[in-house]
Amino acid sequence: MLKPLLPAALLLATPLWAEAPRTVTDIGPVQGLVASVMGDLGSPELLVPQGASPHSHALTPSQARALQQAELVFWIGPDLTPGIGRKIEAIAGEATVLELSEQPGVMHLAARDNAIFGTRAEADTGHEHDDHDHDEDTHDDHGHDDHADDDHDDHAHDTAHAHDHDHGDDDPHLWLSPDNAAAWLPVIADALAEADPENAETYRANAAAARTALEEAVSEARDMLGAVQEDRFVVFHDAYQYYEQAFGLHVIGAIKLADASDPSPARLDALRDVISDSGASCVFAEPQFDPRLIAAVTEGTEIGVADLDPLGMALEPGAGFYPALIGDLASRIAACAER
Ligand SMILES: [Zn+2]
Repeated sequence: MLKPLLPAALLLATPLWAEAPRTVTDIGPVQGLVASVMGDLGSPELLVPQGASPHSHALTPSQARALQQAELVFWIGPDLTPGIGRKIEAIAGEATVLELSEQPGVMHLAARDNAIFGTRAEADTGHEHDDHDHDEDTHDDHGHDDHADDDHDDHAHDTAHAHDHDHGDDDPHLWLSPDNAAAWLPVIADALAEADPENAETYRANAAAARTALEEAVSEARDMLGAVQEDRFVVFHDAYQYYEQAFGLHVIGAIKLADASDPSPARLDALRDVISDSGASCVFAEPQFDPRLIAAVTEGTEIGVADLDPLGMALEPGAGFYPALIGDLASRIAACAER
């Protein structure tokens, strides 16, 4: 990107009111985390509008212009937003582009490739699968579940891994792990501090405050979800794996896989059976996707239906967004289960 050359006198006259770096983010939760670090110094722009699906969103011309003018870009990575993909680096030109999925300390989970998940919960109850001839894949999923009293952290070790390989098969919904969000806050603060050294202390102090707010939200969510640890849930698309692990929830299946691809009729049939067999409490719809698929799996069952939004589209943008998202998911899950 060519920038006009400024006369030397102007270059020297760095204004005292230097603005915060122009910052662009991909999705609402990342915008919220960055906003919490920028505080009053500025507000990040958003590429995937709230209400759109990151899995299918394509850049608009005005978003491409925002990227061209950006100094800093924070995004999860191309697995989440294939419609933006690697174009982001080319368009953003001279901006510093931080791919959050690539940062140190970020926990990745493998994408689940079956809409009906083998769960610890099923192993606990000694549930037999021999009568489920449509459900052959769940047997394999139980291979590591010979210790039924596994606590949640041990279970996480089975599938979680540090970033040490090309993770095209990873579940891209990384922001639903509060630990990942906590790992990103200092990364965001460092990038802003480097781009805007005058305000470095403010960014770092804001990041520390955001960390505290996040820990409070996690502790409140844990309290809310304490009563639903034995419930079984079905989600609309397989977005919640990180949240499930963080809070010990039992999601037994998803209508759509993590890339939000459409389910086959056989998968819908299998899910309907699993819902009636398991006594699942709730199926969660999402505002970004077609509700008719929910009806296809809930027909003839007693299961509750409620909205759950992994992107928090109804929440107020800004510094409080991310903790509110963690709490919003917890309260919706708890309310539907206790209904
Ligand atoms: Zn998703």
